[in-house]
Amino acid sequence: MCLTVIIMMQKKIEKINQLLIQHFGIPQKSKQLPDPLDTIIGTILSQNTNDQNSFKAYRNLKDNFNNWDEVAELKPAQIEKHIKVAGLGKQKSKAIFELLQSLKKKQSLISLNHIKNISDTKILEELTSYNGIGVKTASCVLLFSLDRNICPVDTHVHRVLNRIGLVKTNNPEKTFYEILNKIPEGTAHSFHTNLIRLGREFCKPTMPNCPKCPLLKICKYENKTKVIKANYSKRDFMLLDNLN
Ligand code: SF4
Repeated sequence: MCLTVIIMMQKKIEKINQLLIQHFGIPQKSKQLPDPLDTIIGTILSQNTNDQNSFKAYRNLKDNFNNWDEVAELKPAQIEKHIKVAGLGKQKSKAIFELLQSLKKKQSLISLNHIKNISDTKILEELTSYNGIGVKTASCVLLFSLDRNICPVDTHVHRVLNRIGLVKTNNPEKTFYEILNKIPEGTAHSFHTNLIRLGREFCKPTMPNCPKCPLLKICKYENKTKVIKANYSKRDFMLLDNLN
């Protein structure tokens, strides 16, 4: 990608970010950066469910055990009992179990603290080498635990960025790599969080609420809706900003 294209994309991202901040405000960050392992487990729990249910499952683990070393002593079926409120219990307990076992084999104390001083690329490489950990989960660790300027791409972020015309990709991972290193410094957290809110509250998979959308003027989506919907539900609880 040439420099001009990169600069143009940076400018577009800046514009989108400003419009979102004008509408939603600057999203609140957790006061203390959560531990990388907390974030990775929180993200596993958040797959295919809402933030409230994944938060309950996360708290069930944190409140019933003193640390992840204790959770690592459990069998997948025992982990599943504690996290079933988040759904997909078998799949998620297996992913948590395998991650904890891999870390246990590597080091005496179960932790991901060693990644704090390595580059974004190396962290992505290492975390995605664990079974069941994809680019989205790894990038959440970079943003939420290490405060790196990285924007994780879930289905909401992917859908919105394609509809408005910033990227033209067919899956979240490709969208992630398209915008990687093009986010203006210091803006990834608000950009990511507000895009999720936009996707939940306005730019839903079906029947987006285009007439009331803060990105209407810049959006290139061909099938914008025209009927004004009076209400939309405010959905601003974000799991990964509430792990502490
Ligand atoms: S204008 Fe419509 S399609 Fe475009 S981002 Fe907003 S809600 Fe989504």
